[in-house]
Amino acid sequence: MLIVPEREIAALMTRASAFKAVEKVFAAMASGEAYNFPVVREAIGHEDALYGFKGGFDRSGLTLGLKAGGYWPNNLAKRDIINHQSTIFLFDPDTGKVAAMVGGNLLTALRTAAASSVSIRHLARKDAKVMGMVGAGHQATFQLRAALEQRAFEKVIGWNLHPEMLPNIAKVADEAGLPFEAVALDGMREADVIVSITSSFEASLMADHVSPGTHIACMGTDTLGKQEVAPALLANATIFTDEVAQSISIGEAQHAIAQGLICEGDIHQIGAVINGTHPGRTADDEITLFDGTGVGLQDLAVASAVVTLAVAQGIAIEVDV
Ligand code: NAD
Repeated sequence: MLIVPEREIAALMTRASAFKAVEKVFAAMASGEAYNFPVVREAIGHEDALYGFKGGFDRSGLTLGLKAGGYWPNNLAKRDIINHQSTIFLFDPDTGKVAAMVGGNLLTALRTAAASSVSIRHLARKDAKVMGMVGAGHQATFQLRAALEQRAFEKVIGWNLHPEMLPNIAKVADEAGLPFEAVALDGMREADVIVSITSSFEASLMADHVSPGTHIACMGTDTLGKQEVAPALLANATIFTDEVAQSISIGEAQHAIAQGLICEGDIHQIGAVINGTHPGRTADDEITLFDGTGVGLQDLAVASAVVTLAVAQGIAIEVDV
């Protein structure tokens, strides 16, 4: 078995590699070559932790495995380590033998940023100039950095429930040489692309906060009950997702579905746009919305790419199990 420790990931994995791996696996999911297994997520009754598994198999990339991990809310305060902890395991699909164990913390951030970035590449208007951020926490910085690579943006605007966190994303805009402006939620009307990445359980962004022609990537809602945008916004938009089953159950679409505003058939896989079997955006005034719920196959795709890089650079540690 090969081991790629968490400490090596930053030097090995690039945003470009993560983008390529995630785009490819979304395409494989839409063509039926790859599928995700049902997600397990449990409150374990210890340290207030949520622990679970996300796995799948990509027949085209021969990637089989799972990500094990979750959220330990006391880690930072008690132990000075991050609250999200995960490890990715890859298996040889020919034999079932364990093939690799890869640190999954930074990879999770990179694969999540790659997902909204893929949606922007395929769905945003080509002439998008203003990038809007709803959220300014840990993951927001990754989403913004990746998003800014997709269009010739001229400005970043941001809103966060806790305004003291806005410097996190202002810094990313500054690094990209772009001006940053803090706005009220109705100021988001200026945005051509919006990424929402919060841990909210109620809608912040309302339908009248979004202008015609905008592309929105909703990335924070990955659990039953979470919500970032008004269901009416989904009713006005052409909706895409990584996986429809997750979108309607744990993703942003769960609320519009529950209210009968949309049905499952209104939600399209982003992979179909990548494969050219769905046209994607068809008008400049259309609102497109990507419901990024986060699938195990994204984790396996980036982990597999990292293992290849680690082997090539002689960094992977080999052990017998
Ligand atoms: P974080 O704790 O660093 O930041 C949380 C953000 O949410 C902050 O901007 C905070 O101000 C905001 N927020 C908190 N409560 C809010 C409320 N009631 N209304 C509006 N905003 C509120 O967390 P993070 O690591 O940046 O993760 C953000 C979210 O993204 C989490 O919900 C996490 O589960 C989710 N996530 C999704 C994926 C995916 O694949 N879709 C992957 C990783 C993380």
